[in-house]
Amino acid sequence: MTAPLDIGVVGCGFAGSATGLLLARAGHRVTIYERVLEPSSVGAGILLQPTGLTVLARLGLLDGLRVRGAPILGLDCRTAAGRSLFRLRYERLAPGLHGLGMHRGALFEALFDAVRAAGITLRPGTEIDAIDQIAGRARALDAGGRPLAEHDLVVVADGARSQLRDRSPELRRARPYRWGALWFVGADPDRRFDGTLSQVVAGTRRMVGFLPTGLGPGGGAVPLVSLFWSLRMDTVDDWRRRGLDAWKRDVLALEPRADALLDQIHDVDQVLTAGYIDGVMRRMSEGRIAYAGDAAHATSPQLGQGTNLALLDAAALADALETEVDADHALRRYATLRHDHVRYYQLASRWLTPFFQSDRSWLASVRDRLFPLAMRWSFLHTEMVRTLCGVKRGLFRRSLSLGPRPDA
Ligand SMILES: Cc1cc2nc3c(=O)[nH]c(=O)nc-3n(C[C@H](O)[C@H](O)[C@H](O)COP(=O)(O)OP(=O)(O)OC[C@H]3O[C@@H](n4cnc5c(N)ncnc54)[C@H](O)[C@@H]3O)c2cc1C
Repeated sequence: MTAPLDIGVVGCGFAGSATGLLLARAGHRVTIYERVLEPSSVGAGILLQPTGLTVLARLGLLDGLRVRGAPILGLDCRTAAGRSLFRLRYERLAPGLHGLGMHRGALFEALFDAVRAAGITLRPGTEIDAIDQIAGRARALDAGGRPLAEHDLVVVADGARSQLRDRSPELRRARPYRWGALWFVGADPDRRFDGTLSQVVAGTRRMVGFLPTGLGPGGGAVPLVSLFWSLRMDTVDDWRRRGLDAWKRDVLALEPRADALLDQIHDVDQVLTAGYIDGVMRRMSEGRIAYAGDAAHATSPQLGQGTNLALLDAAALADALETEVDADHALRRYATLRHDHVRYYQLASRWLTPFFQSDRSWLASVRDRLFPLAMRWSFLHTEMVRTLCGVKRGLFRRSLSLGPRPDA
């Protein structure tokens, strides 16, 4: 185990707060820098996979989160004509296994409360502009180039649009996807969408999805559902000009059960837009800097893995520091531990996304033929469930073990 270190973490999102928490609990002195003065989390639902749930269980947060989340048994995808393309259930891997649909704000609240209770030094309203490394130490610099503090190591967890990553020699590429999504979170008091993440597709240009999102942050008591609608990012203004009624007709053509949800939208500003980045690093560490979360591996959310990857990064870094005596070795071990898993999900997301969101319409006919065939082949069906579950590390490599079941 490395001697207790002084560790700086840039970003208080899911990656930064989970990393800070695990490292503080292991006895390290942790400072989290967050550029926002009053951190909070806007946005819609996220699907926590069984992998991410094991880390939240290790943090002691899972029981509380279950109360605010919605159990997800699997993923259903069908065409607008009602033909099932795939129907994946976690319990194919183990009885009772499931995911958790959560409001992003509810997860943020749980992690942030734990950060405040853990004796971590939090520096909100502090934007880190650069990190330099001198003699085995890493210095965080502000926008004026002034050093704020020197640390034994710095964890860069500043999200998909990380400028610190963009300047790293380990960056391979960071480019935006052409397609993104519109999001709306509304009440689902009749629980029409309970139990599964459901998607309806028409070609590659239209897709609507519904994720049960639990009760949300704060003291909300009505079940929520997140609606997402695929959209090319350069057509957001056209979408606004067409107006809500035209869009609602498009959504209802794919999913008539969305009527009660759509009735809650009166203004385009109630609908959020989200673009995605494909960000790839050669290694997730560089000297005394570790990269974690979207800063290290931003992907499209097609496979619902980003937060789960971030939580696994946090656990891997804590494990590497626990195993190695020397911090340099620990950071190299961290990068090695995360390499194959991260690479698989980045490749799979990049490869799959155009089949669901792109201008290449012909991919839809390939998708509509191949997925139902794959579902009939038991081996491929199981591999698809493993991929969804978040445990894959390569096509032919042994999957991650979930260890003791988080819901056991
Ligand atoms: C539409 C959409 C749907 C998604 N659905 C899912 C899903 O179902 N399941 C799933 O697992 N994942 C999903 N994701 C991905 C998931 O949201 C991300 O992977 C996750 O939020 C990454 O967390 P992070 O901590 O790395 O980054 P962030 O949450 O972006 O946090 C970064 C933090 O760093 C701060 N920061 C930035 N720059 C600086 C700086 N220079 N100095 C100091 N602080 C800074 C920011 O203010 C922010 O607080 C989805 C993403 C999108 C866009």
